[in-house]
Amino acid sequence: MHWIYERHALSINEITELSKDLRERLSETAYISSLKLLDRQISKDGTEKFLFGLEDGETIESVLIPDEDRLTLCISSQVGCAMCCKFCLTGKMGLKRNLQAHEIIDQIISVIRSIKPRQLTNIVLMGMGEPLANFDNVIEALWRIVRFMKISPRRITLSTSGIVPKMLELPKKAPMVNLAISLNATTDEARDYIMPVNKAYPIKALLDACHRFPLPPRRRITFEYVMLKGFNDSDEDAKRLISLLKGIPSKVNLIPFNPYEGSEFKTPDDKRILKFQDILIKGNITALIRKSKGQDILAACGQLKAKYKLE
Ligand code: SAH
Ligand code: SF4
Repeated sequence: MHWIYERHALSINEITELSKDLRERLSETAYISSLKLLDRQISKDGTEKFLFGLEDGETIESVLIPDEDRLTLCISSQVGCAMCCKFCLTGKMGLKRNLQAHEIIDQIISVIRSIKPRQLTNIVLMGMGEPLANFDNVIEALWRIVRFMKISPRRITLSTSGIVPKMLELPKKAPMVNLAISLNATTDEARDYIMPVNKAYPIKALLDACHRFPLPPRRRITFEYVMLKGFNDSDEDAKRLISLLKGIPSKVNLIPFNPYEGSEFKTPDDKRILKFQDILIKGNITALIRKSKGQDILAACGQLKAKYKLE
């Protein structure tokens, strides 16, 4: 475990702590997996996008985001996504398949190897896919990341579109990672339209689950709110958001919509976003505007689609 998860050995033969004979015998039945790095793009703002090939030829993306004293890696949990959110390019691909636990972890190991001597500080499951729709593999990966790679669960964030039963199962089965919820709307009518998952688990059920979520002391749930011009960015939305979050230790990340070709939505003006944030702050809500990074290389939230040859 130490050689694989901390020293990042690429083959069993490298594990010189084991006898030659044992290494040879092990190599007959096992190998150490790794991802094929197909492409690496660097944005003007320092964000880096890694395109990885899997053993069956599918591809996934991971994004490295430097920010002041942090170096965050955003990893994928599925090839594509079945949740069909209207504003998200990954959602447009549909689901190809779940990632296995080792494929989730190999993204981290590959990136750690390629950025030496820089070191990752945080990991977010916010890349391609809905992590809670690939529950068992994600949980297995989280345990190995925490136990074998020795990364603290406080430095890991899992983001979900809101699969309520799995959200409640998560703290019983997984290490206590941070939770982020993609809320993105303040009425069921609007959320139904942009996030079909809302028809199964509407806003009230989602927020009830947040109230019941066993948060460790001083931790808060992050609510992501993609701002879509003229759709969910009004003063009324901001006020409704304040009352929805009442009683939940929370902070809000406002993410201006990242446009892509053919999308039906637009990004609100800065003035509108600032006004929305101001209303939240006056309502005693911690609200940050997360200007997306890496837009020039299509590495920003919702822009991942892992096509090697860009259309
Ligand atoms: N499936 C999970 C995690 C991956 S999506 C989830 O939905 O939470 C990560 C974040 O990107 C989500 O909060 C989602 O709302 C946001 N997002 C998706 N498409 C976007 C876009 N085009 N612009 C800005 N944010 C987007
Ligand atoms: Fe899937 Fe998240 Fe994109 Fe929705 S926003 S389609 S859940 S990746």
